[in-house]
Order: sequence, then structure tokens, then C-alpha cells
Amino acid sequence: MLPEAVLEQARVDLLDWRGSGMSVMEMSHRGKEFVSIAEQAEADLRELLNIPAGYKVLFLQGGASAQFAMVPMNLLRGKTKADYLNTGQWSKKAISEAKKFCQVNVVASSEAVNFTTVPARESWQCDPEAAYLHYTPNETINGVEMHQVPEVGVPLAADLSSTLLSRPIDVGKFGVIYAGAQKNIGPAGLTIAIVREDLMGQTLPATPTLLDYAAMAKEGSMYNTPPTYAWYIAGLVFQWIKAQGGLDEMATRNQAKAELLYRAIDKSGFYKNPVDPAYRSWMNVPFTLADPALDKPFLAEAKAAGLLTLAGHRSVGGMRASIYNAMPLEGITALVAFMADFQKRRG
Ligand SMILES: *Cc1c(COP(=O)(O)O)cnc(C)c1O
Repeated sequence: MLPEAVLEQARVDLLDWRGSGMSVMEMSHRGKEFVSIAEQAEADLRELLNIPAGYKVLFLQGGASAQFAMVPMNLLRGKTKADYLNTGQWSKKAISEAKKFCQVNVVASSEAVNFTTVPARESWQCDPEAAYLHYTPNETINGVEMHQVPEVGVPLAADLSSTLLSRPIDVGKFGVIYAGAQKNIGPAGLTIAIVREDLMGQTLPATPTLLDYAAMAKEGSMYNTPPTYAWYIAGLVFQWIKAQGGLDEMATRNQAKAELLYRAIDKSGFYKNPVDPAYRSWMNVPFTLADPALDKPFLAEAKAAGLLTLAGHRSVGGMRASIYNAMPLEGITALVAFMADFQKRRG
């Protein structure tokens, strides 16, 4: 979901942005109108996340999937090894991409228990020669979230695609943060990366310019034409979050939403969430029904009740409620009421 207020503002601006006579979609990315939109968006994001000096904010393309390659290309810096934590489907993708560039040391994995928990920090086998450690704080498909930032002795690279802006984070603890915008920020087509400056500029030989953090930073993310409209919408989302009270307020709301849904699942005796309660995601809540034959009727009836996109990821099945920032508490209340009613009729 995007906040309705954001979509309404986009509608107001659609044909003529602030009297410029142009739609944002028609602007030159180097014109003063779009440059002002871009700069405001970056300033608002820096304010929201309290980004310390010494970090660049990049507005990129290629999704989080391109970052799976950009992280090793940029962060190896002459080294040949990197540490990866394996906590779910997205970790696995990041690992398989990184293997094209370096020796990957998987410090720990929860695959043997179907990614229903996160291996304890004490059990991680880190390589002292690793250039960085990569992990996925929120596994979107498995619904597993790490609520604390781990302490490691090397730069941390984190795929925050489905959790960035859901709560405050301490950016200073990371070397690189990245997120595809389409989960919790804005429309598809934009990827945000926040990179510590001292880690830039030592890319692997033959790294394409477009995939070089330093080159993109030098050009203000405009080495080539950026995804201007997605950037503009993300900027409206940043302003919406500020108007709601910032990331502390987002965290309060998101935690309350998630707790309401998990409580309903746990006490139902009909629905189940398999994830270790210490690592349950605030953003993505997978659940199964007591009888998988009821999945289809559940989805069809939910849709008829106005509750959309509840099917689990194709790789795991079942249901998944993605309850990003823009999902109001009323959305969860409606889902919980529907689930109770469905159980009463079909359970
Ligand atoms: C969706 C997602 C991705 C893939 O994002 P793309 O932008 O489609 O490349 C990667 N990591 C996580 C955690 C995701 O949720």
C-alpha cells in the first residue's frame, strides 16, 4: 500500500507540478524543478533516519537484486572473502550472487529449521579475513526479522528492502544499507542505498560505472537518467511519514499492528505462524490454515471482503499479510475479524 494522501497529492500534481506547466514525468532530471524534488527527498530521508555525516544517500535502479552484486563489487576492496548470514530466501539469493565475485563464508544458517528463527550471534563462525558481513534484517518471504543490529568486527551490509522506514535504525552501525523502494517506501523502479563514504571507490576491476557507488555518489545519483517519478513519489512518502510523527511513530504503530495479528493467529487454534516469537516480523506475517484445502476459499472470500494480496510467496505457499507503514490499524482489525468469521464457518 501507499498512503492515500500520497496518491492524492500525486493526482493533484499529475498534469502540472506546482504551476511548472509540466508533469513530474515530463521533467528533465537536470532541470531546476526536478533537482529541487530530488534534493528535498534526500534531505527528508536524512532527517527521518538521522543519517550521520560521512554517509552518501543514493537513488538507484536495479532493485535490491542489483545490490546483491553491487555489494561485493564495491565492498571487497582488494579482499577475496565475505561473510553472509543465511536466514531465508533473500539471504540465499544474495549469497548465490556474491559467489560470482568472492569466496562466501556462510557464518550461520537457519535453513535446517525452515528459516523459522535466526541463529544466535554466539554461534556465528565469522572469517577474520572477510571484507564485510551481509545479512537480511527482515526476510520478507519467511516473515523473520532481527530486532537488534548484530555487533561484528567488519562493515555490515544489510538488505533492508522490507523494513527500511518501519522504525528508527542506527545508520552509523552499518557500512551499506539498501532497499528496493517497492516494499515500504514507494513505487517499483527505485532502489535506495546508504553507503559509508570510506568504503567507496575501491571497486573490483571491470565494475560498470553504473554499479560503482562512488561514481553514482559523485554525480548525485544522476550519472544517467534516474527513475524520476519513483523518486518523486518516495519524496512524498518521506513527507507523509514526517507528518505522521516520524519513525518512532511508525514503530509504535507497526508493533501494535503486528501484535494484534500474531495474537489472533496464536489463540485461534486454526491459523498458525511458525516463526520463533523472538524473530517475528513486524512487516510480513505468514500464516497457514489448519487444512491447506481451505487456502483457496480463504483467499477468494478475503478478496470479496476487500482484503487483497494475502497469498503467500509462490515459494512457500500459505498466506502472508504484508502490513507495511501505509497499512492502517483498521486494515488489521478487518483482517482479524474476517479470519475469526472464516474459522467459525469453515473451521
Ligand atoms: C523484494 C526483496 C528483494 C528483491 O527486490 P527487487 O527490488 O525485486 O530486486 C530483495 N530482498 C528483500 C529482503 C526483498 O524483500
